[in-house]
Amino acid sequence: MNCVICNKECTGKTCSGACRAKLSRRTAKQEESARARLKDLPAHALYQLINRYEADTWAGSAEYTELMHRLKTLTLEQLKDQGYYVPVWKYKECA
Ligand SMILES: [Zn+2]
Repeated sequence: MNCVICNKECTGKTCSGACRAKLSRRTAKQEESARARLKDLPAHALYQLINRYEADTWAGSAEYTELMHRLKTLTLEQLKDQGYYVPVWKYKECA
């Protein structure tokens, strides 16, 4: 195996603490930009991405997390207007 940061030969993903720190910063940045990308997606595109996951794997996905965040933070009217499937708990919450 080679270090994913400096390509030096090593036993794990990274060869040293410095490379490990670099990798985790890089991963954090990638997650952040993935989140930023998802933020601008319309409802149907987000559903499409979630549907690409195999059964049971979508629950842990960034797309599903984003969807849940929207379902919790948007109003019932906003969700309906923007084409979301409004879950029963949201109706109850807004009743
Ligand atoms: Zn390294």
